[in-house]
Amino acid sequence: MLIDQARIYIKAGDGGSGILSFRREKYVPKGGPDGGNGGKGGDVYFKVDPSLNTLLHFRYRQHFKAQAGRHGQGANKTGKSGEDLYIPVPPGTIVKEAESGKFLADLVEEGQSYLIARGGRGGRGNAAFATPTNRAPRHFEHGQPGEEIQVELELKLLADVGLVGLPNAGKSTLLARLSNARPKIADYPFTTLEPHLGIVSAAEYSAFVMADLPGLIEGASQGRGLGHRFLKHIERTRIILLMIDSIQPDPEGTVKALEKELEQFNPNLLERPRFIAMSKSDLTPSAEVTKFRFDYRFSAVTGQGLKELINGLWTALQDLST
Ligand code: GDP
Ligand code: MG
Repeated sequence: MLIDQARIYIKAGDGGSGILSFRREKYVPKGGPDGGNGGKGGDVYFKVDPSLNTLLHFRYRQHFKAQAGRHGQGANKTGKSGEDLYIPVPPGTIVKEAESGKFLADLVEEGQSYLIARGGRGGRGNAAFATPTNRAPRHFEHGQPGEEIQVELELKLLADVGLVGLPNAGKSTLLARLSNARPKIADYPFTTLEPHLGIVSAAEYSAFVMADLPGLIEGASQGRGLGHRFLKHIERTRIILLMIDSIQPDPEGTVKALEKELEQFNPNLLERPRFIAMSKSDLTPSAEVTKFRFDYRFSAVTGQGLKELINGLWTALQDLST
């Protein structure tokens, strides 16, 4: 299982300071205190964004700072609050405090957010300190600093390659043929049927994880049957391998139907790299019989085309992580 990691520094906005000010009006020699309070600093949140499936974007940016609150103004004007900052993370991101390794949050659901650093409170202006005995206070407060924290993010992907196809496309057979080890399912709270995972060795000392996602059925995106739950797993794979049985009478239509399911469930899934593979090549004499366009053609029974398939997937995975 590839684990993506990133370490980032986060600082919430400082609170604005309250100010020292007295009313100044014509013909009013001694105006009362009117120093406004400072605004609150912006908070920083993590927010699950299902269009992401890696932590790669943190390679280009590791510092995140929310806006500070503005200082108070005269005429009892409170400073504007700093804007909150939302840092997008892919579903399946675990947040830990970098130094202690303390677990902070497990961000799974679309739209889920987590407050990671609280903005500082604004300081009070001198108007806030007026009392019957001190009607012209000269006291005011500075804003509180925003919280800061260094965090370690970790993304556990379900698998590198997810197999998607109609029942009987040959997914289980392919996984059994390619994988020499059955890893334990990552410690995720799977509330659904478990996808089967296998480790596929690619180059020397290198391997990737392939998941056999139980059969996609038409209408899955509408939640028919168990399809909806299977589709949830696909969100945590890097590459999608659409498998079409060679003896399918309408491969084109089947691919379209599968893609439609994916799209209706989550349009971002179609932006993920995907390949089309024709399985059971031993059952059809040659690829020339069909005009259908595919990336790979293989037989999990005879082994034909498997090497090309593995190499192709491995190359694509490496391209994704550079
Ligand atoms: P799944 O539902 O997609 O997991 O499909 P299975 O792996 O269970 O395969 C469905 C049927 O197709 C089984 O009877 C397999 O033996 C058969 N099958 C799978 N791969 C091949 C293949 O490459 N060649 C042939 N001839 N049969 C295959
Ligand atoms: Mg199966």
